[in-house]
Amino acid sequence: MKVLVLGAGQLARMMALAGAPLNIVISAYDVNTDTIVHPLTLQKLGTGLSNAIADAEVITAEFEHIPLPILEQCQQSGKFLPGSEAIQAGGDRRLEKALLARCGVASASYLVINNEADFKQAVSELGSPLIFKSALAGYDGKGQWRLKAPGQADAVWQQMADFLAADAKQAIVAEQFIGFNRELSLVGVRAGSGEVNVYPLTENHHVNGVLSVSLARPVNIMLQQQAEQMFAAIADNLNYVGVLAIEFFEVDGKLLVNEIAPRVHNSGHWTQQGADVCQFANHLRAVTGMPLGNTELLRPTLMINILGEDHVPAAILSIAGLHLHWYGKQKRPGRKMGHINLSADSLAELKARFARLIDLLPEAAFPELEQMLGRVSD
Ligand code: ATP
Ligand code: MG
Repeated sequence: MKVLVLGAGQLARMMALAGAPLNIVISAYDVNTDTIVHPLTLQKLGTGLSNAIADAEVITAEFEHIPLPILEQCQQSGKFLPGSEAIQAGGDRRLEKALLARCGVASASYLVINNEADFKQAVSELGSPLIFKSALAGYDGKGQWRLKAPGQADAVWQQMADFLAADAKQAIVAEQFIGFNRELSLVGVRAGSGEVNVYPLTENHHVNGVLSVSLARPVNIMLQQQAEQMFAAIADNLNYVGVLAIEFFEVDGKLLVNEIAPRVHNSGHWTQQGADVCQFANHLRAVTGMPLGNTELLRPTLMINILGEDHVPAAILSIAGLHLHWYGKQKRPGRKMGHINLSADSLAELKARFARLIDLLPEAAFPELEQMLGRVSD
């Protein structure tokens, strides 16, 4: 089975690794260079997008910031899953917020800002603190501004005015700042038949707006049920096929949706070691029409992102239950270069292993891990 993936980053790479045992062969479309490449070596395969679309049995995506004409071309082929509507909803915060409202799913109150009058209305209606996010092309906390108090409004507006003036397609979504207790995410998979399988909620810790650590452990049933209901509402509305991730804020036992990702997700990388069938295999199973795989938590697992570093001390590989996943990328400050998955049969054992790992990793490159250590307990 041949699958074309839009995007040629680490998610396409990990799909290829998970797909090989299923006899699924992946080629990847690099949007930046407009070329079809091998997902592991990134070597050009010498064919163009139109040929690759014709050649593939299924087309899917590993990221949502894909030019509209390409989405339309893929949609027209009739092979694109989860399809253009879902990808666009993940890539444009205006569509995303409208989708959440349409599904009756709770999220932070918001207004769309196109000009100064909209900005003033947002500040007076939503109050402060506020967070502003670019409608298009936002990722890893980029394209965001914060208004802590009304006195900062002029200065914040000036930055946003320059940003809006530079790109006629852009807008800004103003959102109430949520004083959350925790950030959680749910990764699940929906088949063409409508069948849904979800992994347990994962607890996420961000540093400077970028995911640093995800922890998958047995979860509170009430929270899991809320998350699953929201997942079903969104996935059914989109008639979604494939893996979908939803990021949440937890506020006093209630979940609010932060955003959705219509694809496999960084907070689901733990499934490579902590679940029976990982998110990459489950995504491929769904889009190629195979039965969905088991999504239960097999063992508590932590995922630690490797950001901006191209090596880690080899000694960490001597820790039992530790797996290293490099993405084969050129080093750049802050870039997602790889991740570490760490599993154990109990939370107590996971905590002990995590403490050893923290001792071995350089603190400057892996800040705030100690904070997560405290969370790994019953
Ligand atoms: P990524 O692609 O890494 O998920 P992103 O650029 O799409 O990030 P968001 O997930 O919307 O951006 O925001 C990044 C982080 O900023 C969130 O994980 C959260 O910590 C914080 N944040 C975003 N929106 C709010 C909000 N309304 N209230 C409080 N914190 C927020
Ligand atoms: Mg996010």
